[in-house]
Amino acid sequence: MRDITVLSGGHGGSKFISGLLHGISAGRVPGIEEDARVTVIANTADDLWMHGVKVCPDLDTVMYTLGNGFDHERGWGRKAETWSIKEELEAYEVPGTWFGLGDRDIATHLVRTQMLEAGFSLSQVTAALCERWLKPVWGDRVRLLPMTDDRVETHVAVKDADSPSGLAVVHFQEYWVRLRAGVPVEKLIFVGQDEAKPGPGVMDALLKSDLVIVPPSNPVVSIGTVLGVPGIREGLVATSAPVVGISPIISGHHVRGMAEQMLAAVGVDATAAAVGLHYGKRGSGGVLDGWLVDTADADAVPALTESGLKATAVPLWMSSEDATADIAAAAVGLVAR
Ligand code: GDP
Ligand code: CA
Repeated sequence: MRDITVLSGGHGGSKFISGLLHGISAGRVPGIEEDARVTVIANTADDLWMHGVKVCPDLDTVMYTLGNGFDHERGWGRKAETWSIKEELEAYEVPGTWFGLGDRDIATHLVRTQMLEAGFSLSQVTAALCERWLKPVWGDRVRLLPMTDDRVETHVAVKDADSPSGLAVVHFQEYWVRLRAGVPVEKLIFVGQDEAKPGPGVMDALLKSDLVIVPPSNPVVSIGTVLGVPGIREGLVATSAPVVGISPIISGHHVRGMAEQMLAAVGVDATAAAVGLHYGKRGSGGVLDGWLVDTADADAVPALTESGLKATAVPLWMSSEDATADIAAAAVGLVAR
């Protein structure tokens, strides 16, 4: 297999892709050629405008991670970051300083915003930013595509005793960063999703690749939003490539983030089995051929197999590049056999 397409959110997705690329280069992923090309289709429903600049958290997490610029200790943003602009904004008491924008990171958003305002599409801007981050490290082996060039935003309706309706609607980032995913979710609203079109290259990547991977990203607000762009789910259903997914849920819990809260909001149990069945088997209304669960969830395998999915249990903690490469190898092996 030479052309691999991976859907992605931010942290979980990029960690997986980094391990996959490491594994491919090291010849640790049997079945994938060492010069394989990886196309990443990233979620853009977390995107927001802050202080006049366009911020794309998941695109940037993938870009910084694969370009060796990510701060792994903090878990988001640029390494060697400084915070002068944030301090100055706080001194002005402007709203929105709950969203941390570092000085280095802001340069990315300034370039993006200038290019968007000059008339370039988000895909074109992303390709330009990747000239700096991906090209020097990966050459033409990795491509990063936004799921869409259209504006799609996840909003969250939360309980708010101070509002006459008893509800407040906030951007997903405000729910996650300011409210720390700590308030009950009434409803998720995917603004703009129904009118969005897949970004340039997205459908081609899905239909012409040799393998499609759904990494351990958030099933609702990362992968769910990618699949929600009209055409993309259909692309996964139609492609002749096998489609394999990896559970972000281990032993009934997300590893980090807020997948448990998001799954509850759409009425899906936070278990590896329920998430696999939620994605579902291709040919029976779903998008997957295979689903990897952690060894702690091995008892989920029979129900998954009964639904028609290929399923197996292997360790799913992405604790090192090697461990993640082994997860990728198990995923490929599951659908290649
Ligand atoms: P976000 O956009 O930054 O939230 O990142 P993603 O949506 O790409 O990934 C978030 C998901 O990654 C969460 O649901 C986590 O449970 C999952 N995750 C993080 N680390 C690991 C890991 O080591 N193993 C597995 N299986 N899942 C992980
Ligand atoms: Ca995200």
